[in-house]
Amino acid sequence: MKVFVVDVAKCVGCRSCQLVCKDEHCDNDWMPYAAPQPDTGQFWMRVDEKERGQVPKVMVSYTPVMCQHCENAPCMAVAKDGAVYRREDGLVVVDPVKARGQKAIVEACPYDAVFWNEELEIPQKCTGCAHLLDDGWTVPRCVEACAHDALLFGEYEDFADMLEGAEALKPEASTAPHVYYLNLPKRFIGGEVADLEADEVIIGAEVTLTNKATGETLTTVTDDFGDFWFKQIDAAEYAIDVVAEGYLPRHVEDFVSTVDRDLNIGTIALYQA
Ligand code: SF4
Ligand code: SF4
Repeated sequence: MKVFVVDVAKCVGCRSCQLVCKDEHCDNDWMPYAAPQPDTGQFWMRVDEKERGQVPKVMVSYTPVMCQHCENAPCMAVAKDGAVYRREDGLVVVDPVKARGQKAIVEACPYDAVFWNEELEIPQKCTGCAHLLDDGWTVPRCVEACAHDALLFGEYEDFADMLEGAEALKPEASTAPHVYYLNLPKRFIGGEVADLEADEVIIGAEVTLTNKATGETLTTVTDDFGDFWFKQIDAAEYAIDVVAEGYLPRHVEDFVSTVDRDLNIGTIALYQA
């Protein structure tokens, strides 16, 4: 069974995958797997970009998204006359002839991975470059183009070791996707510790983050700029404790929440003991 592995931590947002997908499919006829993709309006491979946090503590995450080649595929469930089928290797394909007029296939996909071709009146999406695989290629164009190893493709068994802890893009959709994500972005908290009276940042202050619901703690120290970061943390309510030699300890918990967003908590001031 073929699977894709997407390591979000390795993706730099270069969009080479997106571009070569266009190069492969726009105006090219790969029947029986795909009719030509129009020049505009469709992204069978797309890279979702999200800016997180608040200036100046901002991070940008890039998440490549394509058809998830689901085991429990809603697109297949609504398709009539076998218009969506699964190949023996697990790739889910929309038959461009049988799917004519079946707009419901577009609407059924929880990943927005299917596009409607107005001119041909067909739903279209990633085929996993099935035409190339049939021709001896071992990976689709997008995977071959990724210079950062953020995209992998192959047999499930080949990646079994690295897939422990892998996640689905939308677990709530319960579609059992054959695209496995590593390092999907969670939340972060960033901030800085400073002595405002001395007008200086405090280097090496110990900062402890406590999850108020679970009691779990994480500790870090401020860097040469007085900055601290807690990355890949849960969406939760937290408390922060800061200690530094020569200063009174400080406890902060008002508005330390990542429930709805990543958080730049700003400056935490310490006062000399
Ligand atoms: S080619 Fe690789 S690194 Fe570039 S956007 Fe695509 S997945 Fe990310
Ligand atoms: S991602 Fe969408 S189009 Fe692809 S198999 Fe799943 S439901 Fe179907």
